[in-house]
Amino acid sequence: MSAAARPAPGGLTVAEARERIAAALPRVQETERVALRQALGRVLAADVISPIDVPAHDNSAMDGYALRGAELPATGQAVLPVAGQALAGRPFDGMPPAGAAVRIMTGAPMPAGLDTVVPLEQVQVLDAGTPGERVQIAAGSVRPRDHCRLHGEDLARGQCALPAGQRLKPADLGLLASLGQAEVAVWRRLRVALFSTGDELRDAGEPLEEGCIHDSNRYALLGLLERLGVEVLDLGIVPDRPAALEATFLEAAARSDVILTSGGVSAGDADHTRALMARLGQVDFLSLAMRPGRPLAFGRLAGAGREVLLFGLPGNPVASMVAFLVFVRDALLVMSGAAAPQRTMLRARAAQPIPKRAGRTEYPRGLLGLDRGEPMVHLTGAQGSGILSSMSQADVLIVLEHERGPVAAGDWVPVLPFDGLL
Ligand code: AMP
Ligand code: MG
Repeated sequence: MSAAARPAPGGLTVAEARERIAAALPRVQETERVALRQALGRVLAADVISPIDVPAHDNSAMDGYALRGAELPATGQAVLPVAGQALAGRPFDGMPPAGAAVRIMTGAPMPAGLDTVVPLEQVQVLDAGTPGERVQIAAGSVRPRDHCRLHGEDLARGQCALPAGQRLKPADLGLLASLGQAEVAVWRRLRVALFSTGDELRDAGEPLEEGCIHDSNRYALLGLLERLGVEVLDLGIVPDRPAALEATFLEAAARSDVILTSGGVSAGDADHTRALMARLGQVDFLSLAMRPGRPLAFGRLAGAGREVLLFGLPGNPVASMVAFLVFVRDALLVMSGAAAPQRTMLRARAAQPIPKRAGRTEYPRGLLGLDRGEPMVHLTGAQGSGILSSMSQADVLIVLEHERGPVAAGDWVPVLPFDGLL
């Protein structure tokens, strides 16, 4: 590590580390067209401009009778002959005569010249179903232009319906379909190579020898990556042997845009990882003022003539997930072409005191609930960085800011809901 990159004694703040990472992110350059059915979670590579007005024609928002707003009675009742009907997909043909109403269903185009709908519940139908059918409408039941949706009120032709950088959500797929778009241009998926490091690790399904543990990080991280919609290259478990690590780094670098590892970056392992990184590229071992989640390796490796980014997460299971959520998630979204990722921070009252030291950001795991109408957050049991059940039971990360000291019961604390993050 160069002297300039050496962190302050307390370590880099979370904000400083996020800035440093954000400044170093290349973006995917290739685009592809995908069918709407395959587009969920993909990132738009270009603005989608509406080729049509949505809706394409003025239409009824209710089942009822369409008429001219100017012909609504000012007082008392009006009785109007019914000139015919308009159904969704089967418009009324021609121009209804002056003084007439047209029976209309929700979504049916407004007949020419008519601009107002009186809902079925608000009229009295006389001689229903006969050629002499009429409707009786009371003054004040509706105002002119009520219950009529105007063409283009959702989207006008030529308007930007969805901006480049949008990660497509279910509603966006519906919107694209409403414009008639069967395919969209998206950035290709980011490729992320993932592996766990540690002599003690065995895959789920393998027997555990004395002193070994199952590799949980890779499964938690696979889940997080899948939710982000990136393409994952799972390289399994790599022992703490420089030759094996080097071979895996080189393979990962040749086949991915980003390498994500866990373990092997803490003080005990860092020396040989550091020596290897220095040979393969430029990687900083960031000492962070946060808990859990340190340390973090971040930098570039050169492989097969291209550079790839490396995030080396801490080995402790909660620390690796928290570090992913705090640093890696948004970085992968930006690299995937997404517009500046948003996160919704809420506030809740702490249900109990929470120990906290000023001078580092801490992320206890919590369960959000309501207490007399106010949001309240409970800690999920013991908060050690190896206690994965604290994460599994949680639905929020509590964010205890850098400067904050101990939290008293009842204090307001920011919380970051997992919904939308995970
Ligand atoms: P390390 O960062 O490699 O020193 O690991 C710190 C702690 O996390 C040790 O107790 C490791 O056994 C544990 N650990 C490392 N990698 C994993 C993993 N993939 N799954 C579960 N625990 C792990
Ligand atoms: Mg290790």
